[in-house]
Amino acid sequence: MRLVLLGAPGSGKGTQAARLAKRLDIPQLSTGDMLRAAVSEGTPIGTKVKATTERGELVPDDLVVAIVAERISQPDAKSGFILDGFPRTIAQAAALDEILRAAHLRIDRVLELDVDEAALLSRILNRANEARSNGHARADDTEAALRVRLAEYRGQTRPLADYYREQGLLKSINGLQSIDKVASSLLEALDA
Ligand code: ADP
Repeated sequence: MRLVLLGAPGSGKGTQAARLAKRLDIPQLSTGDMLRAAVSEGTPIGTKVKATTERGELVPDDLVVAIVAERISQPDAKSGFILDGFPRTIAQAAALDEILRAAHLRIDRVLELDVDEAALLSRILNRANEARSNGHARADDTEAALRVRLAEYRGQTRPLADYYREQGLLKSINGLQSIDKVASSLLEALDA
């Protein structure tokens, strides 16, 4: 099964993608994790995207499309995957469609975690505080970067819901429920 998980920063997308990946026995492909790994390893891509990601801005489409294209061609992604944090722009979604079409594949379902913005800001600032006290803070979990991430989401990523709704692929789930309830709602949406 080839899935896309859509959701704002702080919507619980990463948590749910990890659970779903385990449950369905397919890899979770998180572009955020891939970019953070590149930054911490100091690869050429990491050096290129460090400042952009730290400000909370999106990195260029062509760069992230190339990373995903390479990743989904790996053997473990042959029978399916969950994309977490990609696509984030209409151009990325179109590029993904093209890559899959060339391989005679397609996205089976797009799941969206719906969480209102008021809840997002407090959720993510709490997460940032917890991470800081554990020594695992993300460089983009400052209030300033978070506001940029939310603005990027609003402007660039939210239109993807309509893009996929028009294709009949979108299922929207209330992301304000408990973690377990969101997880079961996602599984139900897949069965539906
Ligand atoms: P979150 O959803 O919590 O904001 P992610 O871990 O998904 O965080 O992404 C972190 C950062 O990595 C983004 O703010 C952006 O700078 C970069 N990034 C991740 N995925 C993409 C993408 N598909 N396109 C452009 N930039 C991306």
